[in-house]
Amino acid sequence: MEPTSGAAVSEQTFTPGTSSRALVELRHVDKHFGPLHVLRDVSLTVDRGEVVVVIGPSGGGKSTLCRAINRLEVIDSGEIAIDGRPLPAEGRELARLRADVGMVFQSFNLFAHKTVLQNVTLGQIKVRRKGRKAAEERARGLLDRVGVGTQADKYPAQLSGGQQQRVAIARALAMDPKIMLFDEPTSALDPEMINEVLEVMRQLARDGMTMVVVTHEMGFARSAANHVVFMADGRIVEETTPDEFFTAPRTDRARDFLSKIL
Ligand code: ADP
Ligand code: MG
Repeated sequence: MEPTSGAAVSEQTFTPGTSSRALVELRHVDKHFGPLHVLRDVSLTVDRGEVVVVIGPSGGGKSTLCRAINRLEVIDSGEIAIDGRPLPAEGRELARLRADVGMVFQSFNLFAHKTVLQNVTLGQIKVRRKGRKAAEERARGLLDRVGVGTQADKYPAQLSGGQQQRVAIARALAMDPKIMLFDEPTSALDPEMINEVLEVMRQLARDGMTMVVVTHEMGFARSAANHVVFMADGRIVEETTPDEFFTAPRTDRARDFLSKIL
């Protein structure tokens, strides 16, 4: 990816191995929704350039974990730090955090009344304070990179699901995030579109982007993950290499889960 003017952040993100520091750290995180205990003493470290795939049964807390990392959910106790700094509570600092932590959801969440190009320039101009020309140049580069360069002037509804999701990825990348979170990015897609999105994610991983990916795509987990985190009932039940997880899961919970999906 092209580093943009003044974007030390993106240069850092795309030169993995320059620092051993953790990019994301969760320590003893707890979260309730009313009586429901959805994150239970969750501790997790994501190092720079690492791809962590989070898998597990529905309702296990995977989405809440992702949302906690960019403070879309506020945790009850514990600590979360991005790049060594605790999550800001509000204001401009929080907006900057959200820009640093790119997020791609299951539903594409594009602005329906804006063109593809506008979707990818808006945040650059409003949050990153870039000029329109620079923002558009960057947007076109990213849209090319995810394979939808020719769709720039269309509206989201005119695109396929796979194309929309790739635009959503480009939009997040346009903010020069330090890390990308993907929460089941292919779950809403028709089967024939899943691979085009996974391929963009694989390329991103190869380029050194730090990523947390919640997915049921076990092929992706096996091939792209440095670590697999298995979450159930609000806890991290296993954290290991994909090889070990898929060939020799240590817990009954994981074995049971794998037997149902593989
Ligand atoms: P997963 O992504 O692994 O399916 P979630 O993090 O979405 O799990 O949900 C964990 C639990 O928290 C589930 O029982 C879910 O119903 C509950 N939950 C999620 N969001 C809310 C909310 N905003 N209010 C109340 N309960 C919620
Ligand atoms: Mg979820």
